[in-house]
Amino acid sequence: MRLRNITGSREMIRESGFVVHEPEEMRGRWKEAFGSDAPLHVEIGMGKGRFLMDMARLHPEISYIGIEKYSSVLLRAIQKMQEDPLPNVKFIRMDAEEIEAVFGEGEVDRIYLNFSDPWPKDRHAKRRLESRQFLKRYDRILKKDGQIEFKTDNRELFAFALEELPEAGWRAKAVTWDLHGDPAMNEGNVMTEYEERFSSLGNPICKYIIER
Ligand code: SAM
Repeated sequence: MRLRNITGSREMIRESGFVVHEPEEMRGRWKEAFGSDAPLHVEIGMGKGRFLMDMARLHPEISYIGIEKYSSVLLRAIQKMQEDPLPNVKFIRMDAEEIEAVFGEGEVDRIYLNFSDPWPKDRHAKRRLESRQFLKRYDRILKKDGQIEFKTDNRELFAFALEELPEAGWRAKAVTWDLHGDPAMNEGNVMTEYEERFSSLGNPICKYIIER
């Protein structure tokens, strides 16, 4: 989801109070950043932030951090927050490859991956957010009983993501290849922007919940 480059987006982000500008400095201290002992949930590749903000409205007892690589996309999330500021949401502009520099060991309670970029070429597999390389990073920052939830309509990416689990020491707690047709897994589902777009085209949505 790379929006047309918006002139001045970096400057606008720099001035935004919703963005944590030196996130490495908060490593191991995120509860202080929120001024709350609430559990910490992180969405990686949040895009324009619709899912994260809907979740934050539904769960004021959770602190949410949205990570996004591109300024032009993050800017859209900031604009939404300006319309409806949420005290339990913060944003970080970064590449998730650096995630261990930003969160301490076991600091995160849950990670959401929604409609991640597929990186279809084999030689780019390690860039997929569900690859064994990323699962190992998540292993270090996630609490012992922490979980990861992943949704996509890309069945090849989903098959790859399932194959990666044993390689990195994870196991599936729940799996569906048709989330909206699975009443148990779909209960309380909050749609992402991409989920709405692709399910309206008739694409079934795949989801896993994993743990160690
Ligand atoms: N999660 C949103 C949704 O479901 O509507 C957006 C999905 S969009 C296809 C994927 C987003 O992940 C893009 O905004 C992209 O910039 C971001 N992204 C991809 N790789 C990333 C990475 N390594 N670090 C941070 N963000 C990343």
